Parts: sequence; structure tokens; C-alpha cells
Amino acid sequence: MSNSKTTILASGNKKKLSELSAILSPYKMSLVPQSEFAVEDAIEDGLTFVENAIIKARHACLKTGLPAISDDSGIEVDFLNGNPGIYSARFAEESATDEQNLQKLLQELNDVSPQQRTARYQCVIVYMRHAEDPTPMICQGSWEGQIITEKRGDGGFGYDPIFYCPVAQKTAAQMSAEEKSAISHRGKALKQFAERYVTEGKLR
Ligand code: IMP
Repeated sequence: MSNSKTTILASGNKKKLSELSAILSPYKMSLVPQSEFAVEDAIEDGLTFVENAIIKARHACLKTGLPAISDDSGIEVDFLNGNPGIYSARFAEESATDEQNLQKLLQELNDVSPQQRTARYQCVIVYMRHAEDPTPMICQGSWEGQIITEKRGDGGFGYDPIFYCPVAQKTAAQMSAEEKSAISHRGKALKQFAERYVTEGKLR
């Protein structure tokens, strides 16, 4: 399994992994989730998406000796001054479920007007050739929307059922995986990554 093209996907989030793998599937990379190398989740103690994505990719490189791709993402809500942001996965509490985090966000926005419910998903993708890579490839994508007052749709994960995209006129959870990836924060960051990976010669 480990040849020179094997790249570790530095995430333990299964839904995220399936979005990442699907978007990167046309590219000539052999992607293996870090769980297959028994790599535990890294401690995310950075203060930005970029820092946390680097921490995750470096950790996976260090543990496997292979190149790694990481994703650090979250949702910024304007009324909450950008929170939960990097704390999106642990908004309700340290090991909160998606449902607990989503309910906490609805609660925080209780009685807040539709105009003040603007939000965006952010995604930073980092690619590192090895643990000491001095120039990690950093790609970023965002997706504008608003937080609605009740859940709609059952696709996606995390905050998707309450993240409404005005352009598509539906929530992220009402989109197919392909539809979501075509406009999502993760889709944009990964597209950028794939283009740079090819032009910077890292596929060869
Ligand atoms: P991370 O795994 O530390 O990067 O945390 C990511 C968290 O941000 C997830 O657990 C979700 O709460 C949220 N998130 C990021 N991307 C998405 C998405 O595409 N849909 C829904 N929630 C997302």
C-alpha cells in the first residue's frame, strides 16, 4: 500500500474523508486515511484554521513518514463575531456530536433576525511532503450562506441542515454530494489544491 504516491488523509472525520476522497478521485493520488496507519487525531491547539491544518498534516507525516493532506474547517457566524470558527467541532462541549453543536448554534441565534444570521463555511487544505516541509501548500475556500431557524434536509454533516445557500435556494443538507462539492468551501479549496499540485509538479 505504501508507495511513493501514497498520501495520507489527515482526518478522523468520516464524512469529511468521503467528501475529500470524492473530490480528489479524478487525480492520480493514492489517498489513505490516517486511521489505516493507526494514527490518532492530533491535538488541535492552533488559533487559526491554517495553524490547525498544519498541525494535523505534520502529525500525520511524522507518524507515517508519508506526505499528508489535512483539512481544517468550520463555520463563522457574523452575529457571534465569527464563532464558533475553529471551535466548530467542539462548540457545545469538547466531544460534542454534530447534533449538539447544531442545536447550540440555533439556541445562540434564538430571536436573531434573518438579516443578522449571515455566516460562512471556511476550509483550509494543507499538503505537506514531509514533517519538516518548510513550504506547506496552503489552499483556502469559503462559502457564504445564512443560518435558518430549523433543520432542512438530511444529507451532508455538521451544520449542513441549518446552513442555507441563497444562490442554490436550499440548505447544504438538501444538496447531493456533487452539488455541494461544486460550490462548497471544501470543494473550492480542493480544486485550488488539485490545480497547484499538478502545476507545481507534485503529481509526478
Ligand atoms: P475540524 O475537523 O476540526 O476541522 O472541524 C470541522 C467542523 O466544522 C465539523 O465538525 C463541523 O462542525 C464543521 N464543518 C466543517 N465543514 C463542514 C461542512 O461541510 N458541513 C457541515 N459542517 C462542517
